[in-house]
Amino acid sequence: MSKPTADNAPNAAAKGAPAAPANFLRPIVQADLDSGKHSRIVTRFPPEPNGYLHIGHAKSICVNFGLAETFGGDCHLRFDDTNPAKEDQEYIDAIQRDVQWLGFQWAGPVRFASQYFDQLHAWAVALIEQGKAYVCDLTPEQAKEYRGSLVELGKNSPFRERSVAENLDLFARMKAGEFKDGERVLRAKIDMASPNMNLRDPILYRIRHAHHHQTGDTWCIYPNYDFTHGQSDAIEGITHSICTLEFEGHRPLYEWFLDNLPVPAHPRQYEFSRLNLNYTITSKRKLKQLVDEKHVDSWDDPRMSTLSGYRRRGYTPASIRNFCDMVGTNRSDGVVDMSMLEFSIRDDLDRTAPRAMCVLRPLKVVISNYPEGQVEQLELPRHPKEDMGVRTLPFARELYIDRDDYMETPPKGYKRLEPGGEVRLRGSYVIRADEAIKDADGNVIELRCSYDPDTLGKNPEGRKVKGVIHWVPAEASVECEVRLYDRLFRSPNPEKTEDGGSFLDNINPDSLQVLQGCRAEPSLAQAEPEDRFQFEREGYFCADLKDSQPGRPVFNRTVTLRDSWGS
Ligand code: ATP
Ligand code: MG
Repeated sequence: MSKPTADNAPNAAAKGAPAAPANFLRPIVQADLDSGKHSRIVTRFPPEPNGYLHIGHAKSICVNFGLAETFGGDCHLRFDDTNPAKEDQEYIDAIQRDVQWLGFQWAGPVRFASQYFDQLHAWAVALIEQGKAYVCDLTPEQAKEYRGSLVELGKNSPFRERSVAENLDLFARMKAGEFKDGERVLRAKIDMASPNMNLRDPILYRIRHAHHHQTGDTWCIYPNYDFTHGQSDAIEGITHSICTLEFEGHRPLYEWFLDNLPVPAHPRQYEFSRLNLNYTITSKRKLKQLVDEKHVDSWDDPRMSTLSGYRRRGYTPASIRNFCDMVGTNRSDGVVDMSMLEFSIRDDLDRTAPRAMCVLRPLKVVISNYPEGQVEQLELPRHPKEDMGVRTLPFARELYIDRDDYMETPPKGYKRLEPGGEVRLRGSYVIRADEAIKDADGNVIELRCSYDPDTLGKNPEGRKVKGVIHWVPAEASVECEVRLYDRLFRSPNPEKTEDGGSFLDNINPDSLQVLQGCRAEPSLAQAEPEDRFQFEREGYFCADLKDSQPGRPVFNRTVTLRDSWGS
């Protein structure tokens, strides 16, 4: 499938909160229920366990599980495990974890297409017996040549007219392991002149001497996707088999198998457009390459577009589901703007994340006129609107503010601290900068300030203090590591490269900045992995799922407070 690019495709949705977009599948399902064609619907999500799920899969999960939820039906999780060489138990586990994390639960047990291998084999034999399948000995190169092209008809294979008996014998010997990988295949006998390439005697079975994670060494022939998918749907009583548009051309083949085999049900296939997101890779193969070649740390690296990456980054399941809703479900390909996903997570965290203060680049401040040894326990609300209670913040003589909140020679309109200037410390007093202490190189290493005891919770008489900055107490604050993540790709369409280039050339070299020695307010010391916060003025953060622990927190920046990539 040729993928639309960010430059030429219609934008699937504008920035900000769009109107509720349509889902063309709902009326179809509704009509099938109304007409009595189905009394209960069954959908399925059919991942290949050859990588971790990415944001595109989230769309498919939301569509399939969403329809079942809306119409009171079932959704199955079925691993499409016909390619053992590329599959792995790690992926099987991760996929289940991610589906459940998104908030969905499949009906019944986890299913595997490999459970149907016996039935599929019997059906392959049935096709041979009907004269509708044959064993073909063409090499892959010859087969390609015989297949023709979109503008050139295919040619019949010289092996097409083998007798039923010979085909049965050869197929049995394929199964018995007599031949090497690629030596022979089983093909359907349909039409080498069909304008639809998928109908030009497609492969049903190939030889692969590979150990399978579910079936062990039982098989050395494996059915391919097309021969597996529709029949598995039929076996499971799937009513609506929903996939992405690149399978539209496979639908006649899907139908052909159902029409020519004694299947117990006749599901219908519907296609919708893939989710493409700018600045983002949605191909497992390329994501795997990023991991294998160590451009990122792991499949769940917070910069990855995998669901487990988004999870570690701090995205909530609700934000991803809302995003998938906002995008809509239709048949027109487009590229969705990343700002829409970021809107969705900001929108969620704005309401649900408690506020806290964390100084990312600490600069010590000594309040010269504050009594030594004195500490005041200030109470600040955890959230400006929601009722989340309060946290206490000790105010003492020594504090930290952010280095960027003090400037010797500030530009016009600067609202933070400057020599002789005043600023309010969030939830606390107004302070004035009296003196900057510098090191030998002239860098400011400490500020001497004075506070106005009359300004707790009110403005000083007759003076207007415009700026409010965040701070933490020096002693009571907790040291932490903060990881500032940015987009992994600097180009809106990472797959589009200069001639001969690779998508790797578009990696953003500044996608991760690790800050050590940050200081967080005391209430953050006990943060549990995955606790989310808004660090005032800095963005939304999440305690890292793997590396953070109470007492030694590590925070990942999920997203900045505002869109800084927008025009
Ligand atoms: P990839 O191209 O990343 O390898 P895939 O389509 O091969 O993805 P599968 O494991 O076969 O991955 O996908 C499971 C389901 O998810 C399929 O029904 C597929 O159509 C759907 N899906 C995959 N990518 C997207 C996407 N970008 N948008 C919507 N659905 C998707
Ligand atoms: Mg696939």
